[in-house]
Amino acid sequence: MSFKFLNELPSPEEIRREYPLAKKFQEIKADRDAQIRKVLTGEDDRFLVIIGPCSADSEEPVVDYVNRLTDVAEKVKDRVIVIPRVYTNKPRTTGEGYKGIATQPNPEKAPDMVAGLIAMRKMQIRAIEESGLTPADEMLYPENWSYVEDLLSYVAIGARSVEDQHHRLTVSGFDVASGMKNPTSGDFSVMLNSVYAAQHPHHFTFRGHEVETTGNDLTHVVLRGAVSKHGNSTQNYHYEDIMRLIQMYDERDLKNPAAIIDANHSNSNKQYQEQIRIVKEVMHNRKLSGDIKRMVKGVMIESYIEPGCQKIGDHVYGKSITDPCLGWKDSEELIYTIAEMNQ
Ligand code: PEP
Ligand code: MN
Repeated sequence: MSFKFLNELPSPEEIRREYPLAKKFQEIKADRDAQIRKVLTGEDDRFLVIIGPCSADSEEPVVDYVNRLTDVAEKVKDRVIVIPRVYTNKPRTTGEGYKGIATQPNPEKAPDMVAGLIAMRKMQIRAIEESGLTPADEMLYPENWSYVEDLLSYVAIGARSVEDQHHRLTVSGFDVASGMKNPTSGDFSVMLNSVYAAQHPHHFTFRGHEVETTGNDLTHVVLRGAVSKHGNSTQNYHYEDIMRLIQMYDERDLKNPAAIIDANHSNSNKQYQEQIRIVKEVMHNRKLSGDIKRMVKGVMIESYIEPGCQKIGDHVYGKSITDPCLGWKDSEELIYTIAEMNQ
């Protein structure tokens, strides 16, 4: 019963002072943020590919993976902006299981939040400084923003958090592209209410302060499929789903309408290989309809070095310990296909 206070965490200022991002990469981040902004406002017709492991569980394979993306990103840069998923905090359906590097720097050991914060920041910085690519992460705990706000070029609010007021209000203070996922129930209006909330200014408490935010005009939706009342996965990446989304966007007063399609999770029913077909279908639908092309501005793909997933403790290098992922070869090929299909 009750709380036992264990350790006081270092402040964001302390951590950022100790683990700073080099100046050159601060400029690269500002430039990438501006490019991503233009995609979301419709001034740039490139396509966003947010790709990487379900959880960034270990620095070596994650940095290795992100470095592999650099060459590919360079080759497709006229048609695609590649944003690595470096996900450091994992939502769990029942609260049990591995919760990400920020909680457990070693997945086989007990939580250690101080070491976790440092491991998270060190991994993000190393990935940026070696690859030149600034990453995406989920803001599962909104107050973590201050530890990483100088590093991330894309933020997602997950399916289990999107209805929560603190998440919505916090996103209203972010200055980067922020994707609100549909809730696991699949209700588009919950997701669009969340976009509305985050696009407007708010007054609330954050990290022990009374704060005001400006509203984030780059907040948009992410479709990740849903779970029916009978527990089956239902998809929401099809032509008809996007048409319905466009109609619902049209009925609301929202800035920069945009959708990212998450090809894994309930859209693939975690049949990770299906991500290839799903992404191709999305790209094909963009060719069939100008409205869909304008609405769908990117995809999210779960991908790692090795295909599939493993149990914690199996120690296969570069293989997911959470959701199953596409392997490297298939992922690389899929990025080239996306670039060709975004002509
Ligand atoms: C994820 O992106 O790994 C994730 C947990 O997504 P969702 O919130 O859609 O389940
Ligand atoms: Mn996942």
